[in-house]
Amino acid sequence: MATIKASCPSCGDVELTAAQVRLVVCTVADWSYYSFTCDQCTDEVRKPAGAEVVSLLRTGGVKVERWTVPAEALEEHDGPAIAYDDVLDFALWLERAENPVAALTALRPGARTTVR
Ligand SMILES: [Zn+2]
Repeated sequence: MATIKASCPSCGDVELTAAQVRLVVCTVADWSYYSFTCDQCTDEVRKPAGAEVVSLLRTGGVKVERWTVPAEALEEHDGPAIAYDDVLDFALWLERAENPVAALTALRPGARTTVR
């Protein structure tokens, strides 16, 4: 079994087996990482895993976990964040609305709509 050499920020160089390393490859390349629990200090060490590191770890027998980030998580949003009062206003609107499904179906991204 191949020995994987890594480093712990507190303890320095450590040697690991493939089973001791967790490799997570994300659809957002910059979010890919590998992690392990240091035998000496028991801290979990987590480091970014670029393409070269991913390749090396895979060659060393580390199993790849795939992480798919939903597209919604990558959307950029403008405007103020939804506040508690906004949620209360929406709840009050829902109580009074005669046909909330039809009203909400009419909403389209980017369209200006007044909710009464
Ligand atoms: Zn350590």
